[in-house]
Amino acid sequence: MTEIEEEEVKTFKSLGVCDELVEACDKMGWTTPSKIQVEAIPHALEGKDLIGLAQTGSGKTGAFALPILQALLEVANEKGKPPAFFAVVLSPTRELAIQISEQFEALGSGIGLKCAVVVGGVDMMAQAIALAKRPHILVGTPGRLLDHLSNTKGFSLHTLKFLVLDEADRLLNMDFEKEIDEILNAIPRERRTYLFSATMTKKVGKLQRACLKNPVKVEASSKYSTVDTLKQQYCFLPAKHKDCYLVYILSEMSGSTSMVFTRTCEATRLLALILRNLGLRAIPISGQMSQSKRLGALNKFKAGECNILICTDVASRGLDIPSVDMVINYDIPTNSKDYIHRVGRTARAGRSGVAISLVNQYEVEWFLQIEKLIGKKLPEFPAQQEEVLLLLERVTDAKRISLMKIKDGTGRKRRRGEDDDEVDKHFKSLKDAKPYKKSREGRKMRK
Ligand code: AMP
Repeated sequence: MTEIEEEEVKTFKSLGVCDELVEACDKMGWTTPSKIQVEAIPHALEGKDLIGLAQTGSGKTGAFALPILQALLEVANEKGKPPAFFAVVLSPTRELAIQISEQFEALGSGIGLKCAVVVGGVDMMAQAIALAKRPHILVGTPGRLLDHLSNTKGFSLHTLKFLVLDEADRLLNMDFEKEIDEILNAIPRERRTYLFSATMTKKVGKLQRACLKNPVKVEASSKYSTVDTLKQQYCFLPAKHKDCYLVYILSEMSGSTSMVFTRTCEATRLLALILRNLGLRAIPISGQMSQSKRLGALNKFKAGECNILICTDVASRGLDIPSVDMVINYDIPTNSKDYIHRVGRTARAGRSGVAISLVNQYEVEWFLQIEKLIGKKLPEFPAQQEEVLLLLERVTDAKRISLMKIKDGTGRKRRRGEDDDEVDKHFKSLKDAKPYKKSREGRKMRK
């Protein structure tokens, strides 16, 4: 019997969540609390600081939003109205900040909750106007929040009661340490602090000691495991036929929603062009796109207009994309932990999902490291090479046309001083790929 089956089924009410918020959860379709919510909410409602080891997809936003909203409701009932700037949530990325704010707003829609988001890449003035409306909850990236604390007249956080550091490991990896220190100096010491992180690094430990008081540690799952409902497979192939295998797998699973992970931003563009050329509904998203383009792409994917999202690791964490059926690792991540984050986009909340890793002759080492990290040998995806290669001519044509399009575009850009080395490199690696010896290399790999 699994750990989950042994546990008694909890409800939000049994965790101590008040009726208004239980109703809000119901409206969101949250019938039972997720593991991190079961672990975190009772301690948070007792007024404790929290360290939550959990990833996006675990329901961690609800785990910190519900206790904050419950405390806000209590103050509102006492004082007649909810207090402004009651909580601040710091997020490493703009997308995640927007998603957190959307979840707060959805949970608080019945109680007239006002939320504001302050992130980079958006006009400061419009944000200053939103701050002047005195929202109850503020979500932002550290740099922009600090900018407003220093430069926006009349804005301060002296009434703050809750601070959340979300995805703290990423906040620190992105060198937001100095900004976070300055924000900590500008907010009251008397407050509750919740720190959520996918991994517990040395830097996160240091931050925890600097800003939490006697925290309770809660965890959604053991460190690097993947869930049982996730079917993980690999497909061993020659580098020169990777695109062909990708098209084959996507066609085999044509009704599914998929995320395809690549190593570079350029590869996301190229693959999206190739797949679109072949009539597949693909859209790229990467750190190189403007904020509005990224959100536009994400919305198209969420709305089902496109069912294949091609992305870099920037998109593998933080983005709230519900019900992805399949994750394809087009490039094997060199950092094995990225694998866990990528495949965490599927098989969420008890649903099933598939993750297929396309491993070429140069990526075997990285793949073996992944198997070591997750503690299991993965089975092979049953691809018939002859069937895959039937697609070769069409895929090669689509690639040639897409390459020409990219060359045209980047040629224009280069005249403005940018360069397209990455795209050239990507194509060079495809052209240089050694001939395919599946059985021998495949056997060698399994040893
Ligand atoms: P998060 O890990 O906070 O980014 O949440 C991931 C997704 O899970 C979001 O789309 C939430 O709306 C959803 N979610 C959070 N809690 C629950 C729950 N108890 N039941 C079902 N879905 C949930």
